[in-house]
Amino acid sequence: MGLIFQEYLQGPRIFKCSNCKAHSADHDQIFSKNFHGRYGRAYLFNSVVNVCLGPKEDRALMTGLHTVNDIYCKCCHQILGWRYEKAYEEKEKYKEGKYIIEKTRTMKEGW
Ligand SMILES: [Zn+2]
Repeated sequence: MGLIFQEYLQGPRIFKCSNCKAHSADHDQIFSKNFHGRYGRAYLFNSVVNVCLGPKEDRALMTGLHTVNDIYCKCCHQILGWRYEKAYEEKEKYKEGKYIIEKTRTMKEGW
């Protein structure tokens, strides 16, 4: 195992991987808290850090067909959520390039 370069967010409010506590996202990057993941509540972020992307796949979600990549914590490889690569419905296009993080896979620091 080589050293993994880990990014650190400045905060003050940060979401961390629930497994290894690597920083995952800044509270300021939340686009919406009103999302549902595989495991319940989820957040939509404009950007995240310390993740790697799984392969692209088409997935039929509650809001229609999307092309998504699962996202994994790059430090411990726990699955955190997914990234919207492409939305097929016009009204869902705003999600393209944004990231879902499951509430149960993250923990909060700073508030
Ligand atoms: Zn982790």
